[in-house]
Amino acid sequence: RTDETLLEVNNIEVIYNHVILVLKGVSLSVPKGGITALLGGNGAGKTTTLKAVSNLLHSERGEVTKGSIHYRGDRIQELDPAALVKRGVIQVMEGRHCFEHLTVEENLLTGAYTRADGSANIARDLEMVYDYFPRLKERRKSQAGYTSGGEQQMVAMGRALMSRPETILLDEPSMGLAPQLVEQIFEIVKSINEKEGVSFLLAEQNTNVALKYAHYGYILESGRVVMDGPAAELRENPDVKEFYLGMS
Ligand code: ATP
Repeated sequence: RTDETLLEVNNIEVIYNHVILVLKGVSLSVPKGGITALLGGNGAGKTTTLKAVSNLLHSERGEVTKGSIHYRGDRIQELDPAALVKRGVIQVMEGRHCFEHLTVEENLLTGAYTRADGSANIARDLEMVYDYFPRLKERRKSQAGYTSGGEQQMVAMGRALMSRPETILLDEPSMGLAPQLVEQIFEIVKSINEKEGVSFLLAEQNTNVALKYAHYGYILESGRVVMDGPAAELRENPDVKEFYLGMS
């Protein structure tokens, strides 16, 4: 990790349907090479924060009404998701969102659509994805809609990797997965972070596992950051233990 900041979210407010104030001034930053966790219970505003960054709120009648979002010092609020991908920022949505009628491999290849660096590189990156997710290699000819929830999470992450991102916004990777599979997914996140240098901002309700793998965490409650700090410190914090780690 370096001290270089990639993403800087400064005091953003998000309103849905013109009236429902959901984020009430959220600030956070994502350093290059780090795994940053966005924690908090159901409805705290984690998904909304990620969607604000990747400019996906419009389809849900949401808008950023205050504050600013910068990536590498540039304001990114007006960029559509495709333009963001070109800058190296990609979101893996909650609930996977595979193309169900395409095969696993076709799904992965759709992740390379913004690239213009030739099929040899794309083929090499497909092998890289299969190295991280050997299961996907076994399933590469299967229709994605018929794969398991864990495999679909892997497809969604693998597809994101195919765009050669600098930063991945990962929404609730543990959702609906058995504990063992959750650990496996987080181990893969860790090795992608270490080997490829990809930075992560991940929204996660599973505080235990997120703080085990993240370097830094922000805890959201009702649209506000109520606590933040290095993951090792948050793990030891009495309030975090009591309210989020279920160890009281
Ligand atoms: P979850 O883990 O359930 O996704 P979250 O922390 O990601 O929780 P958000 O999905 O960001 O929370 O939701 C934050 C709040 O915004 C919730 O109260 C939710 O009901 C509300 N909300 C989300 N989307 C919309 C929408 N399109 N219109 C109105 N309110 C919304």
